[in-house]
Amino acid sequence: MINVIEFFKNLPKKQCQQCGQDMDEKADCYGNVCDECDHPAR
Ligand SMILES: [Zn+2]
Repeated sequence: MINVIEFFKNLPKKQCQQCGQDMDEKADCYGNVCDECDHPAR
């Protein structure tokens, strides 16, 4: 069985797929875009 937490730990630093900037681990739950691109008000 694959442990999802271990899977994310082994990933390299994530990048936003929209603007390409580095994302912090806290952005995991947002998918592949950073706070800037994911912001609902933008
Ligand atoms: Zn972005």
